[in-house]
Amino acid sequence: MKFADIEPDYLTLDPKAVEAAISPKTEAIIGTHVFGNPCDCEALESIAKRHGLALIFDAAHAFGVRYKGKSILEYGDASMVSLHATKLMHAVEGGFVVAKDPAVSSKVEWMRRFGHNGHEAFHGAGINAKMSEFHAAMGLCVLRHISRLLSRRSDILNVYRNNLSGYGTHCRMLDIRKETVPNHAYAPVMWQREQLCVDAQSVLLENSIIPRRYFYPLLDCLGEAHPEKYPTAIDASNRIMCLPLYDSLKVEQVEDVCLIIGQEAKGKTL
Ligand SMILES: *Cc1c(COP(=O)(O)O)cnc(C)c1O
Repeated sequence: MKFADIEPDYLTLDPKAVEAAISPKTEAIIGTHVFGNPCDCEALESIAKRHGLALIFDAAHAFGVRYKGKSILEYGDASMVSLHATKLMHAVEGGFVVAKDPAVSSKVEWMRRFGHNGHEAFHGAGINAKMSEFHAAMGLCVLRHISRLLSRRSDILNVYRNNLSGYGTHCRMLDIRKETVPNHAYAPVMWQREQLCVDAQSVLLENSIIPRRYFYPLLDCLGEAHPEKYPTAIDASNRIMCLPLYDSLKVEQVEDVCLIIGQEAKGKTL
């Protein structure tokens, strides 16, 4: 597996870096729709097509996102969506795969239950990735509330946006790619430099507010790292932090979070 760098604005896979990383051994491209921001899907689709590669998306952050008039899950050959308890739409655990080719869908189906083909036959080697009825029931319960949850999160994000816009260049909320209907899943904020991010994290923790440096540390700490090949990803990972975002969060609480960040930032040199 080879990593490729990301675009600085939306933190999604940079098509130019992908193309440069392709070798005769490459079989697939995997892009992540980071914080619900769509990858540059069309550019990646055209690279995949030109090189005869499969294109797979990690859509764990992107439930409900629409891009250029259609569901984000319609791009590429297949998308994976997580239903883990920390996600917008969840079933406590589990997830699902959406694939264009029905043969891929049926392969996923038998692979997730040990490779069984009926009671006394096997398709091939599989894993145990079945979802239980209990998880499905939980998923249905959340699904009933999903529109209300989305609209509540959208309101909360607007409060963050309005309040944080006053802090000028210290920090800014990440932009959303044009032509995207977002799902308001996260409140990612980019600090001007890492120390400001670390200081904001400490002062929030002192006030019993728990932000998350997400994604930090970067996966380049695993295995064979080539940090010189993805400077944008390393830089973003050092400076980004997600602020609390959940539907029962009150406007006053969001304002408090912003006030604490603002007071911390005051007087700091950039
Ligand atoms: C949560 C998450 C995953 C993993 O999902 P699981 O359901 O826990 O396997 C993968 N990618 C991203 C971007 C995620 O946020």
